[in-house]
Amino acid sequence: MTDQTLIILGASGDLTARLLLPGLGALLATGQVPGLTLIGAARDDWDSSRWRQRVAESFGDGVATDVVERARYLPTDVTSADDLRRVLDAAEGPAAIFFALPPAVTARACDALTELDLPEGTRLVLEKPFGIDGDAASALNRVLARLVPEERIHRVDHFLGKSTVLNILGLRFANRIFEPVLDAGHIASVDIVFDEALALEGRAGYYDHAGALADMIQSHLLQILALLAMEAPTTLEAAEFRDRKADVLRSTRPFSDDPAACSRRARYTAGELDGRKLPGYAEEPGVEASRGTETLAELVVTVDNWRWAGVPFRLRSGKAIGSSRKEAVITFKRPPRIPDGLYGCDQPDRLRIGFGPDRLALDFNINGPGDPFELDPVSLEAAFGPGDLPPYGEVLRGVFDNDPTLSVRGDTAEQCWRIVEPVVAAWRAGDVPLLEYPAGSSGPEDSLLT
Ligand code: NDP
Repeated sequence: MTDQTLIILGASGDLTARLLLPGLGALLATGQVPGLTLIGAARDDWDSSRWRQRVAESFGDGVATDVVERARYLPTDVTSADDLRRVLDAAEGPAAIFFALPPAVTARACDALTELDLPEGTRLVLEKPFGIDGDAASALNRVLARLVPEERIHRVDHFLGKSTVLNILGLRFANRIFEPVLDAGHIASVDIVFDEALALEGRAGYYDHAGALADMIQSHLLQILALLAMEAPTTLEAAEFRDRKADVLRSTRPFSDDPAACSRRARYTAGELDGRKLPGYAEEPGVEASRGTETLAELVVTVDNWRWAGVPFRLRSGKAIGSSRKEAVITFKRPPRIPDGLYGCDQPDRLRIGFGPDRLALDFNINGPGDPFELDPVSLEAAFGPGDLPPYGEVLRGVFDNDPTLSVRGDTAEQCWRIVEPVVAAWRAGDVPLLEYPAGSSGPEDSLLT
């Protein structure tokens, strides 16, 4: 790697402090990015010493002290081409520009960049959500195409940087025992669930305009679906890997083409979670209750191709859930015939991939203790080894290596909006009621996953 610069637009924001800088610190600690210059830019009237303090706190003691000492902060309006030119002029070597900005500001910053000649080797790193709907995503793609080639655009989905999610590839494609039975002949359903205890945590400004469908399902969970359903790529090089993911997402649409019947939406009311009293979502500061933003979404889709036709893929994500559950569960069909004389087998086989705790479990039935003809469910479990980097470290490694494998390609970002748009339309038309669930509960009673 040669000397290069990371420019963070939105340096004073939440993402930068909580995820991006700690991920960068972990990557730098491995010594893989020598000679990095770090420039922070935002509207706030900070100076470089305040920025260095933020960077040092996020990196942790003694990590990449040379990078911290050379870090610079430039007060910047990112929607101004002149301001952006000044920031780019401060870069050493090729620059990666990370847009840690609200989505609408990112779009305006990209427009402003079209007035500049970007130096050779510039990379653009964009956060989710990529656009706010399909039209916005394709308009943004058109602007980006005027700035740099597609392989230098990194649309971040940090779930693709999670080592457990990447483990899906090893599990499926480096073993003989699972892959042959992962198809409509053997699989009854696939659930991808990301229910979290976290409530709004002061992020109404962003979340109230997004909701669980756009914030989680349209981005992260469809990426996991793509890894679970894709055909085996010949290599994990970007072009091949992203083609195989795109094949899946192009085949994906709401189950039975009935977006109202195959979706649920709900929001949390006041409740208690981990001994903490939580206000209802509608009462949270900054929330406009009449907008009807959902804090929990469920969507059943079909991957309508030869391998998966007819298998429901059930996606769900909720906030303020008491029994937080983060996993993909592949449920097998029942055996075609259990011999008379064996009894007690009422659980289907299941393969569970946990995204926190990061573990794998295979549930199946064996002859139990005692009566040898009575079947009992058992579970084989294994822990996934932790990756050497947190997700944002992994994402940044791809950026610095000029490897877009783990980023979302432009056409795929548009496909993900296409999949959810009929559901958004059905919700807007009032065809799906907004259910309620108390914070700290396991979600609404009327669920598509039970
Ligand atoms: P914040 O609102 O916390 O931060 C936004 C940053 O953008 C601030 O530094 C803000 O500075 C700056 N900014 C806004 N307008 C301008 C402008 N015109 N010129 C210069 N700077 C500007 O947002 P987040 O950090 O939470 O989110 C950023 C992006 O990351 C979003 O796309 C979000 O969806 C995504 N994301 C966030 C996650 C999180 O946990 N926070 C998780 C995953 C993705 P100022 O204060 O001066 O306005």
